[in-house]
Amino acid sequence: AKIGDLLRSGTPKFSFELFPPRDEKADGILWRTIRNLEQLGPDFVSVTYGAGGLTREKTVETTELINAETTMLTMAHCTAVDHTVGELRNLIGHFANVGVRNILALRGDPPGDPRAEWIEHPGGMRYAYELVELIKSSGDFSVGVAAFPEGHPRDADWETGVRHFVAKCRAGADFAITQIFYRVEDYLRLRDAVVAAGCDIPIVPGIMPVTNIKQIERFAVLTGMAFPAALAERLRAVEGDRDAIRDIGVEVATDMGERLLAEGAPGLHFTTLNHSRSTRRVWQNLRKS
Ligand code: FAD
Repeated sequence: AKIGDLLRSGTPKFSFELFPPRDEKADGILWRTIRNLEQLGPDFVSVTYGAGGLTREKTVETTELINAETTMLTMAHCTAVDHTVGELRNLIGHFANVGVRNILALRGDPPGDPRAEWIEHPGGMRYAYELVELIKSSGDFSVGVAAFPEGHPRDADWETGVRHFVAKCRAGADFAITQIFYRVEDYLRLRDAVVAAGCDIPIVPGIMPVTNIKQIERFAVLTGMAFPAALAERLRAVEGDRDAIRDIGVEVATDMGERLLAEGAPGLHFTTLNHSRSTRRVWQNLRKS
């Protein structure tokens, strides 16, 4: 099945994001999570593509295993950073060989500090739209791209970021998934600007239930994401009580999910960080509502 088609087919679609395991212990955790998530019958699961080293091959391997061992539809993330066009062609060929037909095409961040200067690989690509074009010309793939409700930290300004996003979609993307965010208005503003630019691509909100204050603060620093002060305060008030933090995370993600679906979002894409407890609770809450 093609994710682009699924997202245009009416009812909201639910998906989960996983990352490839680095060692055996992580492998055990991942597969426990996969089995737990499989019971929910998600529309697809995605596997991220690491910024260099081992986890790149691991993305192909993990996606292939999920295809072979589970009933779930898969999407592989793929980044252009540090690859020649030839290497990217090979990688896309590998994905096709292991039965992956859905790819999220990303530029990637510089290895190490993601905020460091972006340096194009000689013989490589400069922007994600080039990877979209390469994948679309390489076979029968449904291709997704990244969207940034708050803008990408490298955008000259928000409007320019929207223009580049729309150009990336016009290069052949079938759907988009957003960076995680905590203000529903930011998603709606992006969606409306993209529609106003004459582009009707389905944009799936990325959701991550907060489970850990430090992790979310680090993420906010790296991506420039705004973390609402009121939410930060609520979390700090129960700092040290992991269950209370999780409860707030689940409540906030449930509320966001409800509002986004009521606004007509085509689905929700949950970042799980390979642990599914909070995500499953949000899922159950949304089912009830
Ligand atoms: P692009 O679309 O190329 O944009 C990058 C910058 O270039 C932006 O500022 C944009 O405005 C500008 N730009 C774009 N096109 C043009 C143009 N034609 N002319 C001038 N400027 C232009 N990273 C990983 O390493 N692995 C992953 O698995 C991964 N998964 C992700 C999943 C999601 C849902 C999201 C939202 C992000 C993910 N990322 C991942 C992070 C992503 O690689 C980074 O955010 C990266 O910095 C931007 O990638 P992009 O594909 O949006 O780049």
